[in-house]
Amino acid sequence: MTSKSRIFSEVDFEQEGKQQGFLRLPHSVHRSAYGWIAIPIVVIKNGPGPSVLLTAGNHGDEYEGQITLMKLCRELEPAAVRGRIIMLTAVNFPAAIAGLRTSPIDDLNLNRSFPGDPDGSPTEVIAHYVERELLPISDYAIDLHSGGSSLMYLPSALIARATDDELTGRQLDILKAFHAPLSFVMSPREDRTMLAAAQRTRVAAMGTELGGAGSTSVQSLAVAERGVRRVLKHVGSVPEMEVGQELIPTRLMEVGGSDYYVHSPDYGFWEPLAELGDEVRAGQTAAAVYCPETPWREPVMTQFDRDGTILCKRVPGAVHRGDCLFHLATDCP
Ligand code: ZN
Repeated sequence: MTSKSRIFSEVDFEQEGKQQGFLRLPHSVHRSAYGWIAIPIVVIKNGPGPSVLLTAGNHGDEYEGQITLMKLCRELEPAAVRGRIIMLTAVNFPAAIAGLRTSPIDDLNLNRSFPGDPDGSPTEVIAHYVERELLPISDYAIDLHSGGSSLMYLPSALIARATDDELTGRQLDILKAFHAPLSFVMSPREDRTMLAAAQRTRVAAMGTELGGAGSTSVQSLAVAERGVRRVLKHVGSVPEMEVGQELIPTRLMEVGGSDYYVHSPDYGFWEPLAELGDEVRAGQTAAAVYCPETPWREPVMTQFDRDGTILCKRVPGAVHRGDCLFHLATDCP
C-alpha cells in the first residue's frame, strides 16, 4: 500500500493570493475511462498567520455549512486574510451533489471513514487526503454539520474531548469564539470522524450541528455564518472581519455515553412524547412505537435513561429498531 494520496490538487497550498479549482480524485468507470471526481476547493493565502481548514458537505444532506462556505469563499479576498484559509464547500462531493449522507459511489459515510485509505474507494481516499495532507498543514479546523435528513438539532457547536487538557483547551477556545446558542463537549465515541482525525494531527478542531431535517432556516444559517466569522476573527485569520453584535452567552453542555441516547425499540411509526429543547427526567416516557401491520397491538414504549435537555430529535415518522429518536445534553458542571 502506498501512503501517498492519488488525489491531485489544482491549487498550490503555498502560493500567495486566492486560488480556486478542484481536487482531482481519479475515478475510472464505465462512462469515463480516464475521469476524475472534481472536488471544489478555494485557498486564500496572505503572508504569515494561522492556517485554517473549513469543511462542509462531509455529509451531503447537510446544507447550512455548504451554503455558508459558498458565500464566504466568494466574499473573502487575500488582503483581508492573515495566513491561510482552505475551504472545501463539499468535501464528500459525490454525497453532496446527490443530497445524501453517504456517497452514492461506495455507500460510505466520510465521517466514519477516517483515517481513510489512499488505495480505497473514493470516500476512503478523501478521508485519507484530509487526514494526511490537509490537517497536517492546518492549525485550526471547523467541520460544519447539521442533523441531515434524519435528525433535527437545536443549533449548536461542539468539540470532541481530547485525551489531553492542552488540546481540549485550544478546542474550547474556538468553540467559545464560535458562540452558538448552545455548545457541547462530546465524550469520545468514535475514532473514525474528522474531529478524531484532527486530534491525531494535533489540530484544534470543532464541529457544528446547525439544524437539519435536510433543510435550512434563517436561524441555522445565521448561527453558521456568524460563528465561522467569529472564529476567523478570534484566531487572527481575518482580523477585521465583520461579526455583528455580541450575543447572549452560549450554554455550555456535554453529551456523554449511551444513556444520553434513545433508540427505537421496534419497527413501525413513532409518536414522540417530548420535544426538542424539553427538559426530561430519567424514566420519563420518550416515545411510543406503533406497528402498522398489527394496529390492535399495544404500542411499544421507550423511555429516557437519564435527566437532560433534548438536543436532537429524529425527523422521519417511520422507524426501524435501533434508529436514534432523541439524544440529550446536560449542563457542564
Ligand atoms: Zn453530519
